[in-house]
Amino acid sequence: MKVLSRILISSLLVCSLLISAGCSTGTLFAAKPYKETQFLMDTIIEITAYGNNNEVAVKAAFDEFRRINGLTNKFDASSQVSKVNQAAGKEKVQVDPEVITMLKLARSRAEQLNGALDVSIGAITELWGVGHKGEFVPSQAAIEALLPLVNYELIEIDDKANTVFLPKLGMRIDLGAVAKGYANRKAIDALKARGIKSALVNAGGDVRIIGKRQDNQPWRIGVQDPRNSEGIAAKLAMTEWDVLETSGDYQRFFVKDGVRYSHIIDPRTGYQPRELASVTIVAKSDNYVDLLSTAMFVLGVEKGQQLLKQYPGTEAIFITTDGKKIVSPGLEGKIEF
Ligand code: ADP
Ligand code: MG
Repeated sequence: MKVLSRILISSLLVCSLLISAGCSTGTLFAAKPYKETQFLMDTIIEITAYGNNNEVAVKAAFDEFRRINGLTNKFDASSQVSKVNQAAGKEKVQVDPEVITMLKLARSRAEQLNGALDVSIGAITELWGVGHKGEFVPSQAAIEALLPLVNYELIEIDDKANTVFLPKLGMRIDLGAVAKGYANRKAIDALKARGIKSALVNAGGDVRIIGKRQDNQPWRIGVQDPRNSEGIAAKLAMTEWDVLETSGDYQRFFVKDGVRYSHIIDPRTGYQPRELASVTIVAKSDNYVDLLSTAMFVLGVEKGQQLLKQYPGTEAIFITTDGKKIVSPGLEGKIEF
């Protein structure tokens, strides 16, 4: 419940910033915005759209989140991800082609991300159970025993028969880092398919936009202060980008004996990375930077900055656990603190 209320507060804060931004004078679209908020995929999802049929379009966008959640929710024993996990070490499982798409996306991203990202991390995330088990810190021995189960290269994906096989008993996939961004992409497609030319989808820090605001100004987005649930650490006008994605240690976490334990785990060690409190990526969705924020959270500032060079036009805001804010060169002068 604590976690939920934190997510609520932080999401509401971003909303209020957006509302005030959206209330400026001038109208490009005669119609009023249609805005709806739902709790889905363990987070608050807020969709705002302008233009004809905006209500129908927003409902269709939410359907996409619901559909992808139905496939990937590891806490629902009947989801496809759960079925794949239950059959680990025993048999392959036939899945929806979109599950294959997400797994292949994660695999291709993992290859570029220096071992920082691994969707076969499920056994470890389940052991920690951040947000679901209370304040539980597993023993080092328990973590080490599960680490050999974390290796995305072992996942057997057959994209002709649409089957997935986890070859080791106890192996678990966790699409937590993949599903929200993928669903958001699909939600944007659903809005566009219904003629929407101005919209904002905020899925708990995974933000995607279409076009500009109704007053022809760029959408402006607040990046949450990771250590103050009511504060904004930075503001940014989405002039050149249509995706803003944040991974941080402040939405799903617990504190035990003064130590913060979050939901993002370094697949190489089985423990939480400690250098960053949050990292935000801004990019063009065409550049397919999905999952970059999770990987950067694991890698830290220096390796993260290096990695960023491989993605021209993609920028980052790093906020360290000791309160430093570091922005990539392309963002200098474009951000308000
Ligand atoms: P958020 O869920 O806050 O958007 P992310 O997109 O970074 O954060 O995804 C974090 C989720 O991804 C975790 O809740 C867990 O399910 C999963 N996960 C944690 N660490 C990793 C990792 N190193 N690689 C892949 N998935 C991870
Ligand atoms: Mg995410």
